[in-house]
Amino acid sequence: MSFSNDAFILQGMTYHQRTFGCQMNKHDSERVAGMLEALGMLPVATVEEADLVVFMTCCVREAADVRLMGQVASLKSVPTVNSRRIIAVGGCIGQRDGEKLVQQIPHIDVVFGTQNIAQLPQLIEQSLRDGQPRVQIVEDSQRTSERQTETATLPAHREQSWHAWVSIISGCNNFCSYCVVPYVRGRERSRPLQDILEEVERLVAEGVKEITLLGQNVNSYGRDLYGESRFDEVFRLVGSSGIERLRFATSHPKDLSDATIAAFAEVKAVMPQLHLPVQSGSNRILSAMNRNYTAEHYLSLIDKVKSTAGDVAFSTDIIVGFPGETEADFEATMALARQVGYSQAFTFIYSRRQGTPAASLIDETPRELIQERFDRLVGLVQHSAKEQNQKELNAVIPVLFEGSSKRDPQILTGKSPKNQTVHIPLPAGSRSSDFAGSLREVRIEEARTWYLRGSLV
Ligand code: SAH
Ligand code: SF4
Repeated sequence: MSFSNDAFILQGMTYHQRTFGCQMNKHDSERVAGMLEALGMLPVATVEEADLVVFMTCCVREAADVRLMGQVASLKSVPTVNSRRIIAVGGCIGQRDGEKLVQQIPHIDVVFGTQNIAQLPQLIEQSLRDGQPRVQIVEDSQRTSERQTETATLPAHREQSWHAWVSIISGCNNFCSYCVVPYVRGRERSRPLQDILEEVERLVAEGVKEITLLGQNVNSYGRDLYGESRFDEVFRLVGSSGIERLRFATSHPKDLSDATIAAFAEVKAVMPQLHLPVQSGSNRILSAMNRNYTAEHYLSLIDKVKSTAGDVAFSTDIIVGFPGETEADFEATMALARQVGYSQAFTFIYSRRQGTPAASLIDETPRELIQERFDRLVGLVQHSAKEQNQKELNAVIPVLFEGSSKRDPQILTGKSPKNQTVHIPLPAGSRSSDFAGSLREVRIEEARTWYLRGSLV
């Protein structure tokens, strides 16, 4: 990696980063942190201590979008110990709004797009020098695979030293009718297989135990480069790299192939957990959402995975209150969720996003009714999550430990193969740091809705 000499003025300055939204943003934030620290900047825990505040933003839903812009607007550009406070906005709102942001909130100093992470230090430096705002956004038509590789190869400050995100495909070609992602992250672009494998090899050599492969639709991996999906090959090659645990997100049901299911079942490192967003159980709504599968097809995939890979934890994303959703449509979603028996579900109330096809649909369903349905769905998911956890009672499972629980330093927390949170008491005489990143066998003695409790074998 090379930076211009200009970036030296950042040496010794402090930064504070706030990240919102999906795992792709977390991945990008680890790159921002790694790059700033490589230039000599120091992370601090609060905005007050920071010379630079970086917001990695998300605009998938309106409430978060508005709240986030409120946070940026309420900050002040004040003198700091080293300079004056610089405010930088990246991620999906940066990409979407560009120049408009600086006009709306004049104390924003830097706006950078989802493909401009590597330019951040220069933009900060230029703005520090002349006090003028800097905006750099690459439109999708100008995106190149070099630029993508550039972001993927920036140094990362990993939140946990034993876990790494590895981006394999960026962007999205699906245009679900409610979703802004294709407009702010551009079309699908896969990273060459060789690049991915080199990154994985490096991570394994550094002692990383778990990798999560990332993409808006990982099942599509390779189509733009090789003319066909080669995601199953990614599983097999990354799976034989010596990595202990392999996870991935997200799979689009319309592209989950038999070859991928076979590799999912066969490759030992791939954990028995599948996140397969269904969005709705009603075929009428799925069609209006432009999802390109039916509830029957989705359920047939679940059956295929169960019969090929055995005991797998399923998780999903569901939207409640898509325009025109009736009680019968919602009941179809409830029935599907009951049938699958999800271990976890991310449930969202539909949020109208300007510029998406669904934004022009009129909906007269009362807000309270949507909320009431949403609460019913949450109740159902809680019930099935607990039921799934109870299957683990008395079992001995390998747990990858993260460290001590946020609430209680005497409790260690880690993850089961199915990605369940597992707590155990800190053994007498040991420190939680001895456990971070280590795999130990645990006997499960108690199963709650959101966690398991046990003790070391
Ligand atoms: N690419 C992934 C997820 C991207 S966004 C996928 O297709 O599965 C994460 C989730 O946010 C989506 O799965 C969807 O459930 C939700 N979401 C996206 N746009 C939304 C909107 N306008 N309103 C409510 N939820 C939305
Ligand atoms: Fe959005 Fe659909 Fe693409 Fe997922 S697949 S990012 S929901 S458009």
